[in-house]
Amino acid sequence: MHELPIAQGILERVLKAAADANAARVTRIHIIIGDLSGVSAECVEFYWDSLSRGTPAHGATFHVRRVPFEMTCLDCANAFNPAGEALAYDCPACGSARVRTTHGQECCLEAIDIETPDDATPGRDPATEPRATP
Ligand SMILES: [Zn+2]
Repeated sequence: MHELPIAQGILERVLKAAADANAARVTRIHIIIGDLSGVSAECVEFYWDSLSRGTPAHGATFHVRRVPFEMTCLDCANAFNPAGEALAYDCPACGSARVRTTHGQECCLEAIDIETPDDATPGRDPATEPRATP
C-alpha cells in the first residue's frame, strides 16, 4: 500500500495550489494515473477523506485520467504501446532494443477546480446580475 504517501503528496500540492488561487473550497481534483504506476485511485480517495478533513479540499470529488503504457524507441523515435507483446519491448518499427518507457508510470496532480469566495453564489451576485427595468 503506497497510496497513503501518494495521497499526502497530492494533498500538499492541492492545498498549495488552492492557497495560491485564494480558493475558498476545492471542488474537484484531477489526477493522472499511469497504467504501470500500480496506484489505485480508489485507495487514494479512501485516504483522502481522513487526510483532507479540516482543509478546503475535504469533500472534493476526484477525476482520474488514466495514462496507457507507452514506450519510445531511442533510435527512430517511434512511440508504441507494448501491451500484449509478451514483454518483448523491441521497437516494432525498426527492431531496436533501445527503448524507454515514456508514459504509464505517472501519478501526479493535473489540475484542481476551486470555488473562490466571490463565486459562493454563482450567478446570484446582485452586483453582476442584470437589473430588471420596471
Ligand atoms: Zn525504432
